[in-house]
Amino acid sequence: MIRPDFVPTLNRLFGDISNNKPVQATEDELVYFLSSQNAEEQQLLCDLAAQTRDYHCGKRMVVRGLVEFSSYCTNTCFYCGLNRDNTRADRFQLSPQEILSSADLVHQAGINTIVLQSGEDGMKAELLADIIWQIKHRYDMAITLSVGERENDEYKIWKEAGADRYLLRVESTDPELYRSLHRGRELASRLACLESLQNLGYQTGSGMMVGPPGQTLIHLARDIQFLYSREFDMIGVGPFIPHPHTPLKDSPAGSVHLTLRVVALLRLTTRNAWLPATTALGSMDKDYRVEALKAGANVLMPNFSPVDAKKKYEIYPGKRCVTEKAGACAGCTEGIAHAAGLETDWTRADSLKRRGEG
Ligand code: SF4
Repeated sequence: MIRPDFVPTLNRLFGDISNNKPVQATEDELVYFLSSQNAEEQQLLCDLAAQTRDYHCGKRMVVRGLVEFSSYCTNTCFYCGLNRDNTRADRFQLSPQEILSSADLVHQAGINTIVLQSGEDGMKAELLADIIWQIKHRYDMAITLSVGERENDEYKIWKEAGADRYLLRVESTDPELYRSLHRGRELASRLACLESLQNLGYQTGSGMMVGPPGQTLIHLARDIQFLYSREFDMIGVGPFIPHPHTPLKDSPAGSVHLTLRVVALLRLTTRNAWLPATTALGSMDKDYRVEALKAGANVLMPNFSPVDAKKKYEIYPGKRCVTEKAGACAGCTEGIAHAAGLETDWTRADSLKRRGEG
């Protein structure tokens, strides 16, 4: 049964769809929505989030081309199959020429944003800057980097070479929980990186994982507050999926329905952030990316890495579409968008925050 105060609370907080400022919600209010166990409540939350997305961002799903170019990593995130202690991981690093060939495929597919992602592989900043420069001068496309924690000077070199955006998920904003998921890393250094990126003028994305061991609804509520109050341009959220060759292999996966409620609450609070329907949500017992779009998400990132690289880039097991030829997923995007009642948008689709469209 729907709780009697559910609809009044939803409308009081988020009912004014035209409000274009981030909507503040208290920890208790967010926990109230996160704790819902009722399918009708979930539907009402997601429907309002989708309407809010349509009003502030348009009834569209933006397409970005993902290229995973290196699975080497010096970090030890306990949830990730690429962590340096996983000696069974089959590592790869694409050559600059292979990265440029993948960029060409993204361009040929008519996509105007490329997302270059890797583990923290220590690639020389100058080498990556050269690749950025070459992509930028061949194609008129936005470049998003997702290569982890680096020095401010390195972020600066890449920005000057032409990078437009940077994704760095915080995963958890609770220092203790963060410590329990990472060895030898502190939340403070992650936050400092995010601050550097925003100060350098990157369109900056962050995000979090739902359901790692030790996480409570209060943690999630605080993460949501952090993400909307920092006005990130992009926010990615996915469920925790245990990888068999990591210290968290025996922990249960995060809840899909809770993840969808987090997506909806991020839409309702941020109004106009770009929210991807993440591959992790597509890699559970079934593909939940359409449900994520129906909960207010509005980005899809088909994978343009070579097949061999896709298979080896195994952050979590069961990743969707690893055997399809590079770029083949681009063909499915129309179907996914239409199933959610959205049109596909192949433009650069820069931040709505900086352009003041929200
Ligand atoms: S999550 Fe990223 S930084 Fe952490 S181990 Fe995996 S690839 Fe490395």
